[in-house]
Amino acid sequence: MNAPSTLVERRRRRNFEDNVNAYFDHAAKFCSYAPGLLDQIKTCNSVYSFSFPVRHPDGAIEVVHAWRAEHSHHKLPTKGGIRFSPQVDESEVKALAALMTYKCALVDVPFGGAKGAVQIDPSRYTADQLERITRRYTHELDRKSFIGPGIDVPAPDYGTGEREMSWIADTYGQLHTGELEALACVTGKAVSEGGIHGRREATGRGLMYALAEACRSADDMRALGLSAGLEGKRLVVQGLGNVGYHTAKFCREQGAIIVALAEREGAIHNPKGLNEEEVFSYRKRTGSILGFPGATDILDSREALELECDVLVPAALESVLTAENAPRVKAKIVLEGANGPTTPEADEVFRTKGMLVIPDVYANAGGVTVSYFEWLKNLSHVRLGRLDRRRQAATELRMLQAIETATGRKFSTTERESFVKVTDELAIVNSGLEDTMIVAYQEIRDTLRREPKMGDLRTAAFVLAINKVAVVYEELGIFP
Ligand code: NAD
Repeated sequence: MNAPSTLVERRRRRNFEDNVNAYFDHAAKFCSYAPGLLDQIKTCNSVYSFSFPVRHPDGAIEVVHAWRAEHSHHKLPTKGGIRFSPQVDESEVKALAALMTYKCALVDVPFGGAKGAVQIDPSRYTADQLERITRRYTHELDRKSFIGPGIDVPAPDYGTGEREMSWIADTYGQLHTGELEALACVTGKAVSEGGIHGRREATGRGLMYALAEACRSADDMRALGLSAGLEGKRLVVQGLGNVGYHTAKFCREQGAIIVALAEREGAIHNPKGLNEEEVFSYRKRTGSILGFPGATDILDSREALELECDVLVPAALESVLTAENAPRVKAKIVLEGANGPTTPEADEVFRTKGMLVIPDVYANAGGVTVSYFEWLKNLSHVRLGRLDRRRQAATELRMLQAIETATGRKFSTTERESFVKVTDELAIVNSGLEDTMIVAYQEIRDTLRREPKMGDLRTAAFVLAINKVAVVYEELGIFP
């Protein structure tokens, strides 16, 4: 049973929607579309708001509130995560749905933007209750045609994961017996339930690719007083959930140093580096990250955002970087893992300070990119690579043998193994994800290079996204 969100919280959430629209309006100044078309792009097309009862183990009944917002139907299906959070409200869902439209456009994923939410704190419910809430939520969406492989396809977000997505797939399947494409009604499912290898960690892996691509430019890094490359970069990560954990993991594996991790209960700091896996296990065992061996405790978690580091990764909540704390942020790069972590006022401070902000609308698009691959897999009913990976490996082997015959030199076993590979689904997914993140970054960077007055990557990203959606709306015309 949740306490209603306070007025301050509600105001903060409403600001999130205003913030997304403010970023849009600022970018729109660099576009030459008619105001009506810009309005058509910016407006949220439909919101389904509903409530339903949940029974507690003691027999008490509680009514919970839920939403699904479909921001843009310029491409179908619409796509976006489902959030379980006690603070969520309609405005937040609309803000997140709008971000999804721009995000999908940026990474060329052919979906419109959507988002869903149930206003609950999942930690206060049993697994059985969560299952019933998730199934009822799915049923409500189905009743109003807000879910379906070609209509609207949810995915995990804050407070939800593979378990909830598998429940959604099963519920939809029960309601649509015999529908061949039913599994494609939701992504982020467990692999055994039609999910795809690499989806769980895709957002964090995508964030690593985004950061690596930004750090590859020696010129851009020199402007920040940093050396090129991810190696040795000191990271502070806020949120040790799906996005934060995997971002820390993949960046550390590429040579970055995780100097601090922040969670609800506080933060821990160790300039020599933390291992996210050890911290995660420690938190699971003790219930807190505080007291982690070798690290210094920071009782007020928010202070971690102001620690000395190269890269700050907010990967928990929106509006955590504000006009109030932005001047004290020491990072040179902000890599936005969460949606909407930076308010426009904080963004302005970062721009003035010459920092590099890698914006959410691009940086955390790895999740929806791999969701797209999962959707394709579900529609085609075949694991990626299954049909031709052996044939491809055989072709590579024949080529190698031809080179050996022509040169008279035999390749070593190591060389042979590095050339001839039977590619599994995970390798295909990661390669598609890496390519998507690199191509999108370069498109955004080039847009900014062509028009430096835009001032930052976020504005360039929004301009690109607006252009991509505008073209579709112009070509489609208006029904009827
Ligand atoms: P999650 O529920 O797995 O993890 C969120 C973590 O943040 C939890 O560990 C929670 O304890 C922690 N947290 C909550 N309040 C905090 C605070 N005040 N300080 C520090 N930590 C706090 O959620 P997630 O899926 O990792 O999502 C995190 C953010 O990333 C959200 O903004 C979400 O919209 C965004 N995102 C998620 C995905 C995805 O694929 N899951 C994709 C794109 C964007």
